[in-house]
Amino acid sequence: MSEPCITRTMDTGPGQPRKAFASSRLYNFGLTMVVMGASFILYYLGLFGTVDGPLTPANMGATLSGLGVTQRHVIIMLLSLLIGAVSWNWLFNLTSAMIGARMTCSAAGKDGNEYCGLPAKRIRRVSRRSGREVITYVCDDGHRRSEAHFHPLKKGAVSNTVWMACLAFVIIAFCGV
Ligand SMILES: [Zn+2]
Repeated sequence: MSEPCITRTMDTGPGQPRKAFASSRLYNFGLTMVVMGASFILYYLGLFGTVDGPLTPANMGATLSGLGVTQRHVIIMLLSLLIGAVSWNWLFNLTSAMIGARMTCSAAGKDGNEYCGLPAKRIRRVSRRSGREVITYVCDDGHRRSEAHFHPLKKGAVSNTVWMACLAFVIIAFCGV
């Protein structure tokens, strides 16, 4: 989720990087513990096939077919997961553009910056002269422009991994038919 322009105006002061570093270390440690814990649980449930449990692949297959879940169900589920994983940020960006969110000011900036870059609000009004609706973008510095820069949300590493994994599983499931 890279949004350098939108957070640019919220730059942190000196002393902040050290704290951020410490908290990211803590976060990574916590994440590692969670993943390790989950792996242990999955291991003892038999997911890796080494321990006989409800998640042992053979047992899982038997349970699923006992529930009436067929390969077609699995493929449909994986396909919808894939479509969701690929399209969520497009939908998000479309909605954002429609409601005028994630916009920054496109006026010339101070201190040699090419653009002002402050968050801009979209204002609709009806022009008295032409009677048509006019869209204006206003930023905190009071710039008024008819256009603003839109910052689409890009997929992060996790998101890309998820849809690629879904695609791989869909291909595997199709080849297994
Ligand atoms: Zn501005």
